[in-house]
Amino acid sequence: MSGIHRAWMAWMAIAVCAAMNPGHSASDAGIPAEISLTPGQIAVLRYKLPAGTVPSALRCGGKDVQYFIGEDGYLNAFISEPCGSRHVPYACRLQTSKGERVAAKVAIEKKDFPRAFLKVDPSKVTLSKKDAARAARERKIIAAVYQEGSAATPYFDQPFIFPVEAKVGSPYGVRRIFNKQQKSQHLGVDFAAGEGTPVQSSNRGKVVFTGDLFYAGNTVIIDHGVGVYTIYAHLSKIDVKRSDVVEKGEVIGFSGKTGRVTGPHVHWGVRVMGELCDGQSLVRAYSSTGLKMEGQ
Ligand SMILES: [Zn+2]
Repeated sequence: MSGIHRAWMAWMAIAVCAAMNPGHSASDAGIPAEISLTPGQIAVLRYKLPAGTVPSALRCGGKDVQYFIGEDGYLNAFISEPCGSRHVPYACRLQTSKGERVAAKVAIEKKDFPRAFLKVDPSKVTLSKKDAARAARERKIIAAVYQEGSAATPYFDQPFIFPVEAKVGSPYGVRRIFNKQQKSQHLGVDFAAGEGTPVQSSNRGKVVFTGDLFYAGNTVIIDHGVGVYTIYAHLSKIDVKRSDVVEKGEVIGFSGKTGRVTGPHVHWGVRVMGELCDGQSLVRAYSSTGLKMEGQ
């Protein structure tokens, strides 16, 4: 158990450096973390609890956020900013046995997302009544999966990794225009993996959904705990089942072109604080070994 917590502390020390404004130190108990996010970005909130303070709830920008306490006395939480951010700064407020505390101050920076024009089968853009009914039904199924709630403690104690060894074909946030008709925003990262490439779990977690969806095709959703989910779509084959606990790097299926796609690839989604966010922001702060920082 202590090994797990040591790993957490080392990782969080790296992750938090990437998320915070330069020069800020939250080593002293009770000092709010200062975090800067762009739309779609994920960060790790770290707040050292004052001695004898027992937290009961964390709210960020009016949303309840899951958290856990490490052996180092820090409260940890994964926070995010929605893709369609209104760029309003907010505070993360912690209810405690000693009253309310501000655990973090969050600033939102602007980000421009690129545009892409795509041609797809018209039947997948202007849906038939039957397909529209199916898509609506599936939205409810997925909403119910998330409503079950994420595990209260993390399944994982290591950094997240990308699901497949392939180039990013389409990054998060691209504004997509389908057949000049419908606009949407790409709320995941596409990896240009050929058909049949093994797809691995980004981290340890529990499979909470497997199934064939109209838009996403064969899909796996993994709950990693504390409100963090990863989603793997357009798979040709799924190799896990609901309630399986999978290890980091474990093969959960193979890439394909099921659902609404223009060719084989892996669509990788990350859900934090109820929003589909940029998985690259979760992985970027460190390499898969956790020894080297990339980007930022
Ligand atoms: Zn995609």
